[in-house]
Parts: sequence; C-alpha cells; structure tokens
Amino acid sequence: MGTEEAVVIGAGPAGLFAAYELLLAGADVTLIDRAAQAGGQLVKQTHKFFGSKEHYASIRGIDIRHRLEHALEKNGDGRLRTLYSTTVAGFYADGALACVKAERYYRLHPEVVVVATGASERTVAFAGNDLPGVYAAGAVQTLMNEQGIRPGNRALMVGSGNIGLIVAYQLMQAGIQVERVVEAADEIGGYQVHASKLRRLGVPIETKTTIKRAFGTNQVEGAEIWRLDAKGEGIAGSEERLTVDTVCLAVGLSPLVELLSQLSVDTRFIPEFGGVAPVLDETYMTSRPGVFACGDVANVEEASTAMVEGRLAGIHAAGYLNRQIPRRKEKIQALETSLRTLRSGPASEHVRKGLRKVGEHA
Ligand SMILES: Cc1cc2nc3c(=O)[nH]c(=O)nc-3n(C[C@H](O)[C@H](O)[C@H](O)COP(=O)(O)OP(=O)(O)OC[C@H]3O[C@@H](n4cnc5c(N)ncnc54)[C@H](O)[C@@H]3O)c2cc1C
Repeated sequence: MGTEEAVVIGAGPAGLFAAYELLLAGADVTLIDRAAQAGGQLVKQTHKFFGSKEHYASIRGIDIRHRLEHALEKNGDGRLRTLYSTTVAGFYADGALACVKAERYYRLHPEVVVVATGASERTVAFAGNDLPGVYAAGAVQTLMNEQGIRPGNRALMVGSGNIGLIVAYQLMQAGIQVERVVEAADEIGGYQVHASKLRRLGVPIETKTTIKRAFGTNQVEGAEIWRLDAKGEGIAGSEERLTVDTVCLAVGLSPLVELLSQLSVDTRFIPEFGGVAPVLDETYMTSRPGVFACGDVANVEEASTAMVEGRLAGIHAAGYLNRQIPRRKEKIQALETSLRTLRSGPASEHVRKGLRKVGEHA
C-alpha cells in the first residue's frame, strides 16, 4: 500500500504525455501499464504516421514511442516510477487503486489520477465468428508486428477505416494474400492514400458488402460475403465464397471506460466518440474531483490528438495539485489551438459533431 502524488494509468501516447507534463510541473508520477513496455498502440504500428510534422507525421509509430520515452527519462529527474506488466484492476469509491502484477495485489492511494486506458476493439455478429482464425485487427497487428507470427496465408478484411486499410497493407507486407476488403458503408472509411496503396497491390475493396459467415471444421477455411441493400440488409443470392484462413475484423473501437465506471463517474453515450465515454469538464476532469481522462478512453480518435489531450490533462492535473507551471495560460491556449487544427479536416467531422453534442448537453 502506498500514497502517491500522481498516478497515470496507461502508457500510450496520451498517458506518456500526461506524465511528461506532470513531471515538468515538478510532480512525483507513477506511470502504470499492463503491457511490458510503454507505447500503447504505437508499439505495433510499423507504418509512418499521417498528420502534421508537429505531431510526428512521417515517423513510424514504434519510433514515436522511443522518442516519447526518451523525453520522459530526460525530464523524470528521479520523480518518475514506472510500473509495467501491472494491471489496474480496481478503482474504489475512496479513490484507491488496486493493482495486480504477477499474482500480487497491492493498493495505491493517489492524490490525482489520469486515466488513459485507450480503447477496445469491437466485433460483429456472424455465424462462425468464434472459429480460430477470426481475429480483431489489433490482435493481428500484435501477432505480426510484435511477435513476428503470421496469422495465416489468405485473409479477408472486414472494415475499411484507417485501421482496416493499414492492417490489410501490413498483412500483404507479411506475405499474406488479402483476398478482399469489405465495407458495409457506402464509402471507404479511411484515407484514400491507404486505399490506393492496397488497390495498387491488386486488393479489391468492396463497399456496401459485409461478411455473412465464416466456415470451417476446426478453424476458418473460408468465408461468405454478401451485398447489402439500402436498409443495410443482406441481399439473398448475392453471396460469394472466398477461400481464406483468416478473417480480420476492423469494425471500430470503443473507449475502455471500465475503471472509470467502477468509480461511478458520469458517462454518456456519444456514438461519434466510439460509444460510452466519460463526461469531462474543460480541464479534462471527470465528475470525480482529481480524476482526469484523455486520449481514446475519452474519445476514440488518433495518436496525434491523444498526445495533445494527454498534455492538457497533465497540465490541468498538475494545476489540481497546486503545482506552478510557467506561462501556463499561453501553453494551454497553444495546445487547444493545436487540437482544433488537428480536428479541422473532413475526416474529423464526426469528432466535431460529438464535441458539439457534448457542448450542447454540458
Ligand atoms: C492499426 C492502427 C493504426 C493507427 N494509425 C494511426 C496513425 O497513423 N496516426 C495516428 O495519429 N493514430 C493512429 N492510430 C490511432 C492511435 O494509435 C490511437 O488513437 C492512440 O494510440 C490512442 O492513444 P491512447 O494513449 O489514448 O491509448 P493506447 O495507445 O491504446 O494506450 C492505452 C494504454 O493503456 C493500457 N491499459 C489499458 N487498461 C489498463 C489497465 N486497466 N491497467 C493498466 N494499463 C492499462 C494499455 O495497455 C495501453 O498501453 C492507429 C491505431 C491503430 C489500431
């Protein structure tokens, strides 16, 4: 059992930047992640990031992770404690955190907590979706890019958002034939640049189409896809069989709010944010004083916005601890401007819509 000044849960881009700002403000920080190393989603992202230079565009996710870790070490000044391979399993009404590492449980009593637990992958219902060989896209990335394991030889990708397109490309890079990318919506969800790369490799991308079922005896041996009508119903007779051993689902992410829910903070269903998300004030604080949230757990978006939100949450959390930050107001204004710029493009229309909703209901 221990009393901590600031605890950051999740060492992805949002949590790393929250910790960075807390350290800059002079706070003692405990950074916890259930993974064995820092980086969150960045660890498996071998592709170069999109966005602006200021937000690490054209740098590979794995390299961004090393840069962030280096910045933390440089500014840690002996005040950073990292607890990796450690899961925060409980968040109690008295504000205590229950942590578990290698079957040992212990409690922490932080003065301030920044929750940056990211998001979880969604799935879709179809016959055979419990067969070995049906994966979520993030799991496929972990297998290929972290563990060096090929999930199969021929794949069907379900979902054409950026994650579906990028992982389909990475499957091809790993020598796995992507037979088809199917997308239920009328249009491809991700950036055209990623779709074009796939098309150049000869991978067909079909919109208004989805998986009907996966089949096989002990594992996936094939999949049936079908066209969707204007109501989103499958069109009988349009079925097509594909010979694949891997079905990869990239059908969206939802904020990982379980820890915050244990604390009974106010949440709200915002489809544009990925589902149930915590209600935050303008300082990124939840309805529970001293508990902040940022990154995908607050609003499923991108690493670039997660980093800026992490910095803002870190600065406000330091303010909650009465830590003095030089030129605090200017710093906050600059970061908020940066967030608005990141969210100004057509791809962020849903986020702007979600933010308008939050504003309307705040
Ligand atoms: C395939 C793919 C490609 C992408 N490409 C881009 C891109 O090109 N550009 C871009 O800007 N964004 C991209 N993104 C999005 C980006 O990776 C995420 O938006 C970003 O990582 C979110 O950061 P985060 O810190 O909020 O969450 P994460 O990076 O998910 O980090 C959350 C961390 O919290 C930890 N955690 C969760 N629960 C607990 C717990 N109970 N106890 C302890 N630790 C816990 C997790 O282990 C994880 O390390 C991509 C995402 C994917 C999946």
